[in-house]
Amino acid sequence: MNYHNLTTSDIYQKLNTGENGLDSAEVKKRQLKYGKNELTQKKKVSIISLILHQFKDIMIFILFLAAAISYFVGDIKDTVVILIIVLLNALIGFVQEYRAEKAMEALNKMSSLHATIRRAGHIIQVAATEIIPGDIVILEAGMLVPADLRLTTTHTLKIEEASLTGESHPKNKSSDTLSTENTSLGDRVNMAYKSTIITNGRGEGVVVATGMNTEIGRIAQLLQEDKVKTPLQKRLADFAKKLSFAVIGICIALFIAGWLRGEEPVQMLLTAISVAVAAIPEALPAVITIALALGAKRMVRKNALIRKLPAAETLGSVSYICTDKTGTITQNKMTVSDCWISPEVNKIENLDPMQIMLLGMELNHDVVTTAQKKLKGDPTEIALVAFTRNNQEYKASWQNEFKRAYEFPFDSERKKMTTVYPMNGKWIVVTKGAVEKILEISEAENIDKINTITKEFAEQGKRVLAYAVKVMEELPEEKSVDKFESHLQFIGLVAMIDPPRAEAIEAIANCHTAGIRLVMLTGDHPVTAKAIATATGILQDPSDKIITGTALSALSEQEFEANLESIKVFARVSPEQKLKIVKSLQGRGHFVAVTGDGVNDAPALKRADIGIAMGITGTDVSKEAADMILLDDNFATIVHAVREGRRIFDNIRKFIKYILTGNSGEIWTIFLAPLLGLPIPLIPIQILWINLISDGLPALAFASEPAEEDILKRPPRKTDESIFSGGIVIHVLWVGLLMGAVCLGTQAWAIHTENPKWATMVFTVLSISQMGHALAIRSDIKSLFTMGIFGNRHLIIAVLITIGLQLIVVYLPFFQNIFNTQALTFSELVICLTLSSLVFLFVELEKWTKRRRYNATNLKGDPV
Ligand code: ATP
Repeated sequence: MNYHNLTTSDIYQKLNTGENGLDSAEVKKRQLKYGKNELTQKKKVSIISLILHQFKDIMIFILFLAAAISYFVGDIKDTVVILIIVLLNALIGFVQEYRAEKAMEALNKMSSLHATIRRAGHIIQVAATEIIPGDIVILEAGMLVPADLRLTTTHTLKIEEASLTGESHPKNKSSDTLSTENTSLGDRVNMAYKSTIITNGRGEGVVVATGMNTEIGRIAQLLQEDKVKTPLQKRLADFAKKLSFAVIGICIALFIAGWLRGEEPVQMLLTAISVAVAAIPEALPAVITIALALGAKRMVRKNALIRKLPAAETLGSVSYICTDKTGTITQNKMTVSDCWISPEVNKIENLDPMQIMLLGMELNHDVVTTAQKKLKGDPTEIALVAFTRNNQEYKASWQNEFKRAYEFPFDSERKKMTTVYPMNGKWIVVTKGAVEKILEISEAENIDKINTITKEFAEQGKRVLAYAVKVMEELPEEKSVDKFESHLQFIGLVAMIDPPRAEAIEAIANCHTAGIRLVMLTGDHPVTAKAIATATGILQDPSDKIITGTALSALSEQEFEANLESIKVFARVSPEQKLKIVKSLQGRGHFVAVTGDGVNDAPALKRADIGIAMGITGTDVSKEAADMILLDDNFATIVHAVREGRRIFDNIRKFIKYILTGNSGEIWTIFLAPLLGLPIPLIPIQILWINLISDGLPALAFASEPAEEDILKRPPRKTDESIFSGGIVIHVLWVGLLMGAVCLGTQAWAIHTENPKWATMVFTVLSISQMGHALAIRSDIKSLFTMGIFGNRHLIIAVLITIGLQLIVVYLPFFQNIFNTQALTFSELVICLTLSSLVFLFVELEKWTKRRRYNATNLKGDPV
């Protein structure tokens, strides 16, 4: 359908709608008819495919092989048990992945976009998916167009349509009807297409197509997003593969050695396969996803919404935060505190100077009044509207008397906004904006006075705006911004209070102790920025510098590089400068988090290691570009998220340490027994059992381990630091060897004392010593007793359940039959528990020596 050839009224008629939009009965009908405004759903992972996925694993095939071998040698009992273990393994994998999948789905839903539309004459916000043909959509710079629209009004509206036409230069849009029929998409200037980006201006349009019927819908197949793997996931998948080869090598050696020694080959083969299954950390990459997804879910409860999963992992490495001021460090609750009128101002059209100022405030804003009589829009403008409407000299009739003819919207590059209205047969032009920008375009003689008063306000941390006005007899022929924004009469200043957020002060102090550098990048006045930065602790040291965007662009490349890290506040900076700062910091090896809300912030957000968008005031474009969204726009939330990121990483490390050490213990036990002249102590299904119970619950419980106390006192982790740094490899080897030694010691002693239950004892010691290990490695350095035994309730429960399951296998006759176990006497059980606790005690000893070293070298800090 060629909507661009139809006039607005034709379209309204055709779509059975109007300027005021659809009423609620019609909305219901159309929602049923047209469905959701969505592109083909991203492939949802079905439960069946998740279940099948569990069986794709190569290890599962090896296990099936083991089951088949048992079957052919006539050991039906073993076959059944192996199959049950395969199923249980798959079930655990499924439950874990399903939880992760659900957590991610919920997060994606939260970051879906909203649109502002008019229905039944009221402006409302709805999820973009709820839009239907006939809806009237209100467009603003920074938004993504939510559906295909025929534009009905435009004010310097520019749209970037690269996703559709490949043309990256934004197109000027207008609402005029086009006469040519066969214009290409890129030339249909009175249309706006779904998923394109509004870079400038404002406008309105009527929805002509939604979902898959839109132009982008036709090529939507190309838009399926792939799942991104985090750097750690990639590294670990690679590691798991290499380790698998090593383990398979060990198992082949085990098999050959056993065979040569004259062991039964089939039994030896099954043992080798079981060791391979137990020792290969096949679940590692999946469990990392779970830890990240669950961590992301926890972050959202603290108002940090992770959009890209790798961010959950890398947040802990942030070493530099570039934050903006308004709304992030401050509350964005503006109140006008002062209004100063220049004594030079004369009457205009019978209005005295104060009234001109108040009228200017009424005419120059985009605040709308909702059905509930609430003001909605930019907090700065809401403050101005509230101020003027509460003033005695304000005339309520102004609200209906004036109809806007032209406007040149605010953006953070221009730092001003202009509106034009017909008035008494003439035209009134009102501009408001940053003081220096207004001085550039207006005629004022008392510039020094204006600057002094601005500085006075700014020193109190107030945001200062200036107003200028002119009356034109006639409109200029060319309706360009320069024609309107020139030769204005300077009217006066308004100052607004926007108090700092109380929690920002603490969060900034936390950044300092956590070794994270912090800079403020703001569009606001340098003096205001300085006052807020000092009040919140961003500026601390006398050597900390403040610089303005203008001064910054005057610096040479060398000067810029030399000064960069001593500058704590960048005021009146442009988005390009923001990008440059981010790049330079990254070039110096920093891992940079950057906040942004405007459409022009997208490049800096994309470039940043962690791009952070504002949930409340941020534009769609900034949200799309970001890795994380602050649902409350609050700086303190960033610090919470960094803390959580560090915790997630710590817990992943603990988990890896736990799994690998357990596996190493199993290998040592089986491998060393024959070398010491002992029989192989465990039968295949016992090995598989230990693998199942120890990798299951306790491993997952590490994801709930609370953050260690010093988590925000240590410096950020280097991004290239190996996950195995800090002596993990040594730990895995020596504690594994210790486990092996305890097991084999138990075996040797029991055989020596002619205890026929030696195999059950080794089986029990090996599984329970892993539980002791899990408890001991909750901290790298602190003793379990100072941390509190019940600090991680999930782990305690997991450990108790696992011990319970082990006891069931040892004591219930049904299981004794299957697992070849015998009931231990009370004293034998006590001996097993005591021997198992040796691993716990030795790891506690390892931490004790670490603590001694730490306290000796780190005399300044609190002892641990
Ligand atoms: P931050 O970058 O920390 O959020 P900011 O909100 O001051 O600070 P911008 O939104 O880029 O940054 O605004 C820059 C300047 O433009 C403001 O200091 C103010 O002088 C002016 N300004 C802000 N909002 C408006 C507006 N709605 N109309 C006209 N001028 C404005």
